[in-house]
Amino acid sequence: MEYVKGVPYFCDKVKKIKQYPYLSQDKYCDILIIGGGIDGSIANFYLADKFDVILVDKDRLGFGCTSCATALLEYQLDDFASDLMKYMSEQEICMAYRMGLDAIDKIKDFINKYGNSCDFYQKPTFLYSNSIFSKKAIVKEYKFRIKHNFACELFDETNNPFPFAIKSGIFAQNGGCEFNPYLFEKIMIENAKNQEDIFENTKISKIEKSHMGFVAKTNFGEKIYCKKILISTGFNWEVLKTQDLCERFITYSVVTSSLKDFSWYENALIHDAVSPYHYLRMLPGNKIIFGGEDTVYKGKDIDEKLANKKYDKLANDLCKLFPNRKDIKIDYKFCGCFGTTPNNLGLIGESKFDDDILLFISCGANGIINAMKGIEVIEDILQHKDNKLIKIFSPKRD
Ligand SMILES: Cc1cc2nc3c(=O)[nH]c(=O)nc-3n(C[C@H](O)[C@H](O)[C@H](O)COP(=O)(O)OP(=O)(O)OC[C@H]3O[C@@H](n4cnc5c(N)ncnc54)[C@H](O)[C@@H]3O)c2cc1C
Repeated sequence: MEYVKGVPYFCDKVKKIKQYPYLSQDKYCDILIIGGGIDGSIANFYLADKFDVILVDKDRLGFGCTSCATALLEYQLDDFASDLMKYMSEQEICMAYRMGLDAIDKIKDFINKYGNSCDFYQKPTFLYSNSIFSKKAIVKEYKFRIKHNFACELFDETNNPFPFAIKSGIFAQNGGCEFNPYLFEKIMIENAKNQEDIFENTKISKIEKSHMGFVAKTNFGEKIYCKKILISTGFNWEVLKTQDLCERFITYSVVTSSLKDFSWYENALIHDAVSPYHYLRMLPGNKIIFGGEDTVYKGKDIDEKLANKKYDKLANDLCKLFPNRKDIKIDYKFCGCFGTTPNNLGLIGESKFDDDILLFISCGANGIINAMKGIEVIEDILQHKDNKLIKIFSPKRD
């Protein structure tokens, strides 16, 4: 089954992640991480500091959905707080927003320590709508954020600084950051402590319970004996023999060629709040990445015809957003799978299959932010410590 299609911009024409060998002998460890996308690489980096960890990926590291993540890293969630109240208390929603802000600081600290070779920048966020029907909901969301001390401004037709029409929008000066997700993964992987225990082209095809924990078998017959397993296989759950961990969608993206003398207000990360929604940000070299137009993932190969229609629609909508620019040309088109949950958060923690099989699956438009803080939940579970995020991330939640 396919989870990515097209030529993902982020891993094209960049220095690739160092090559790691495939597993060629049986191994023992405390924790086996299955899946080396951005989630697996974050888990591996932080866990290898404290535990004996092996990381395996069935293909090359970073070429799954990570390679096409638009990487708008925002503290806000996909839905408005008023909609999330069906699934979380007001206090938990605030906790999730604060977690997003903390994750941005954590990424910044990581970059300060290991170097910025991944185009990391802090950016404001702008969540807007040009529909009169969404205006009320946006104003309500703005009031929620102000009530809970999340600094932001409300824009409308009277004070709109953006070069496109809006009815209302929330601007958060310190609300986000951006990077190249493939290159961020490269720094995570190459600075991890367990360089000898990272294996590519090593597919886990079977997991069996054993007296000491588990035996994970590779497709070529090698065995990894481990006490715990962390599943970070993205939205491919074949190894768990299940299809129904959360809803899965395909989201589509296009990247323009360089646009001369082009920018918008503070080059904010932009999301619209209509359906189907769109998101956009500037890339280095004055290119725009524009995405959205999600469709349900049917558990089969990605429909190329449908994908081409979606790319055309995105290109058209982008031209409509900036009608004065006659030079918008599309250089990259790609799409990939992502998952959503009712409370917009990842599936992170003990699984319903076995308490020693932990899930580390980041979901929603904010997956990467989830993973940066979610790994602290995993660390605390492994060390039998409490963490107030356990409940809202739990894969066993309703
Ligand atoms: C177009 C698009 C735009 C997005 N935009 C954003 C965004 O703006 N912000 C954001 O935060 N998130 C965004 N996301 C979501 C983000 O991409 C995901 O949250 C993130 O990439 C998930 O990373 P992952 O490591 O879980 O998955 P993946 O990158 O898919 O990695 C999973 C890995 O597991 C491996 N694997 C699978 N099965 C096995 C097995 N049996 N044995 C060994 N290895 C296995 C695969 O080979 C793969 O490398 C976007 C997603 C898409 C598709």
